[in-house]
Amino acid sequence: MISKADCFEELKSYIDILPVIDCHDHTLERIKTEDIMTFLAEGYFGSDLNSASNDREAAIMIDTNLSLEERWPVFESAYTRTRYTGYGIMVRRSINKVFGVDSLTLDTVREMQKKIPDFSDPDVYERFFSDAHIVARIADSNPPVEELVTGTVVPLPGQKWAISLPGYHAIRNRSDIETFEKALNRTVTSLDEYLGLCRGLFEEWKRKGAVCFKDQSAYKRRIDYKNPTRHEAEAVLNRILGNPRYYAEYDPDHNPLSDYLMHSFLRMARDLKLPVQIHTGHMAGIRNDVDKANVKGLRSVFEIHREVQFDIFHANWPYSQDLLFLTKNYPNVAIDLCWTHVIDPIYSRDFLMQAVSAVPHSKIHGFGSDVEGSQPHLAWAHCEMAKENICCALSELVEIEYLNMDEAGELAADWLFHNPNRFYDLGLTYKEYR
Ligand SMILES: [Zn+2]
Repeated sequence: MISKADCFEELKSYIDILPVIDCHDHTLERIKTEDIMTFLAEGYFGSDLNSASNDREAAIMIDTNLSLEERWPVFESAYTRTRYTGYGIMVRRSINKVFGVDSLTLDTVREMQKKIPDFSDPDVYERFFSDAHIVARIADSNPPVEELVTGTVVPLPGQKWAISLPGYHAIRNRSDIETFEKALNRTVTSLDEYLGLCRGLFEEWKRKGAVCFKDQSAYKRRIDYKNPTRHEAEAVLNRILGNPRYYAEYDPDHNPLSDYLMHSFLRMARDLKLPVQIHTGHMAGIRNDVDKANVKGLRSVFEIHREVQFDIFHANWPYSQDLLFLTKNYPNVAIDLCWTHVIDPIYSRDFLMQAVSAVPHSKIHGFGSDVEGSQPHLAWAHCEMAKENICCALSELVEIEYLNMDEAGELAADWLFHNPNRFYDLGLTYKEYR
């Protein structure tokens, strides 16, 4: 996305080499993809391909029991209808970098099949991050908790772990807590003991280098957490403990146990001095209810937990106004544009322009790739797009004399490096990367 602003190119060459902190990554291990159609159609772009076709055709595209020749016409038909979305642009840029290919035909895809890079090779994988100047990544990679405790799993170079919260509070039956019990070799007999077990695990996470919590419960429930009494929560847990065959209805609209545990975990976040990342807005896949994921549902959580710092993900797409209001009003709320630059590049650019005029610029985290271990090429392409969006927003503000060039450069460095470095207490030194 290129701007008409005169200063765009000059500012872009400055932004291009800034060190970047990737605020959101899902990589647990490096993975090679064997099938070119999966390489092209998996993940986020797969959702747009599905949206442009139907479930049956989306399944055909990545069905490795079918030949490339059988799958190609189905893919091509959907691809031509969705190649201008943010996801489409991300994929097109990434295949240009990886294969030197501009347009997809059956012949080029056949050639690409022979040249799929081996992302399980650390050198091949890491190159995409060094090319993007990504110097650190906050990873919600959710390793098996037993392996975390025994130290048999460690973060990849540059990764800092986030503690994935949903599994700890979406408790529906006895088996949901058994993994945690096993990890610390304890048996839970009460709500107090379950909270003690969780605290023990979170402390272990922190000792192993975790820098924050992460909650993406918005996929499965409304995020407008109620504040139930301890008695209400205890009644559900006691029933679960007393009868391993009992399956508590996990009611997305009202679950006193999940709500109570979430508030308890936020107190632990305060005590452990760890910020909390929260998924809001758009969700991966299709056919979800974005209304339940709007950040406005978290207002009372922000009011209650004033000593917890919240990093609000995905710029609450498509509800920008609600997030701008909350960020302006609550000192403990920050904005994170992870994933947003590819969900909707134009939204990201407009949002950033408005954010400069509405909220303190110290509360904006500019980038998070939100990809998995088979997709370093998408992290690179996404980062390129994020830098373009940031440059578009800032050069427009220079153009209308809202900012001067020095100020625009300062904001870009804050959004991509200084703000997340401070917020997550990463202790990285800017000069090392410049
Ligand atoms: Zn994510």
